[in-house]
Amino acid sequence: MDHVLHLKCLICGKEYTTDEIDYICPDHKNEGIVDVRYDYDLIKSRINRESLTKSRDYSIWRYKPLLPIFPDAEVPPLAIGWTPLYEAPRLAQKLQLKHLWVKDDGRLPTASFKDRASAVAVVKAHEKNAKIITTASTGNAAAALAGICASVGQPNVIFVPVSAPPAKIAQLLVYNSTVMLVKGTYDDAFELCLEAAAEYGWYNRNTGYNPYMTEGKKTAAYEICEQLNWQAPDVIFVSVGDGCIIGGLHKGLKDLLALGWIDRMPRIIGVQAEGSNFLYEAWTNNEDILTKAPVSGITVADSISAGLPRDRIKALAAVNETNGAYVCISDDEILSAIPVLARGVGVFAEPAGAAAYAGLVKAVEKGLVQADERIVVLNTGNGLKDIKNTMTAVEMAGVKPFIIEPKMEAVRKEIRYLNIQ
Ligand SMILES: *Cc1c(COP(=O)(O)O)cnc(C)c1O
Ligand SMILES: [Zn+2]
Repeated sequence: MDHVLHLKCLICGKEYTTDEIDYICPDHKNEGIVDVRYDYDLIKSRINRESLTKSRDYSIWRYKPLLPIFPDAEVPPLAIGWTPLYEAPRLAQKLQLKHLWVKDDGRLPTASFKDRASAVAVVKAHEKNAKIITTASTGNAAAALAGICASVGQPNVIFVPVSAPPAKIAQLLVYNSTVMLVKGTYDDAFELCLEAAAEYGWYNRNTGYNPYMTEGKKTAAYEICEQLNWQAPDVIFVSVGDGCIIGGLHKGLKDLLALGWIDRMPRIIGVQAEGSNFLYEAWTNNEDILTKAPVSGITVADSISAGLPRDRIKALAAVNETNGAYVCISDDEILSAIPVLARGVGVFAEPAGAAAYAGLVKAVEKGLVQADERIVVLNTGNGLKDIKNTMTAVEMAGVKPFIIEPKMEAVRKEIRYLNIQ
C-alpha cells in the first residue's frame, strides 16, 4: 500500500502509519477520527481518466488504486457500485430547475449506500486476518456488513436498536449474522459495540471510528463525476445522520481535484431531520461540535437518526469547505417526498433517501440553489426497507387502492370516474 502516506488525526494533526493504528487517534479516544492521506503522484501513474474509459469493471473496484487496499487484495463478489445516475427532467421542471439528476444507491446488493463502506471493511478485516467483524448500526450499515460477509463466509456480530425496521432486521437474520437487538438507541448500540469489540478483539467497522469507511463511501463521488463525463455538478444533496456519507463524498471530490480530474469543487448540501439535526444546529449557530450536547435523534427516517453524529468533524468540514449548507426538514416533509420522488423519476426511496430530495425542495425555497445549476440528489436507501412509513406516506398523499369484487362490473364502476380509458 505504498500509495497510502499516513493516517492523520483531524483534531491534533498527528500522523500515524497504517501499521501503528487501525482506527482512531489514541490521544483523542472516540472523537479522534483520522483521515487517510494519499500519494497522488503515485496514484496518477497507476490510473487516469483514459484508463478508466477502457475499464470494464463497473463496480467500486474500478477505482482500486484510489482505495486504501493492496493492489492484489481479493474483493467480495457482490456487485457494489456504479449505480445509475438518472436524469430527472420532470422533477427539475416542477422545481423550476434546468439540470437535475438522481443517483440511486437503493439498487446496491443490500439496498443501501452502506454497501460501499462495508465492502471495504470486509477487505480490511481479511487483511488483518480477523475472525469476527462487528458493527453497530441503525440498520443499513448492519445489513450491508451482513450481506457482504455472507458473500465471503465471514462471521460477524451486529448491534442494532430493537426499534430498527423489520425489513432490515430480516436482512441480518437471513444472512446469518449474530444479531444483538439492543433495547436502546443507536447511540447505546454504538457504545456497546465498541466495548464488545475491545473485549473480544473483533474487527470494528463502526462509522466515524473506522477511517476506511469514508474511503469506501467516496466512490459515489467518483461515479457521479465520471458519469457526468468529469464535468463536476454544481451542487450535491445528501441526507446526514452520522455524517460519514457526506464526509465520504467530500473526500472523493477532494481526491478528484488533487488528481486534476475535475476542475472545481461542487457545493455539498447536507440534509437533516428536525429531530436529529445536530449538524444543522452546529453549523447554523457556529457551535463547537466536540463539546455540543447530543440532540434527541428522533425522526421517522431511522437511517439518519443520530443524536451525536459519529463522523461530525468530517461532516461539518464537507459543508464548510465547499461553501455548502445544512438544511433541516420535518418528518412530514420527508414522508411527502417519498411518493414525489417515486412518481417524478421512478426511484422508490426509504425515508432517509427521500430526505435528500426534501432537502432540495427546501433549498430551492430558501434560494440556496440557482435555476441553471447542475444538481445531483443522492438516494441512499431503497423504499422496500420501510414499508410501514411508505404506507403512511401514500396515505398522506391521498392515494388508495380500489377494493373490489372479482367482477368486471366492479372494474367498470371505478374506471368510469377516472380519466384513464
Ligand atoms: C446511513 C444512511 C444515511 C446517512 O449516512 P451517515 O453517514 O450516517 O450520515 C442516509 N441514508 C441512508 C439510507 C442510510 O442508510
Ligand atoms: Zn489526535
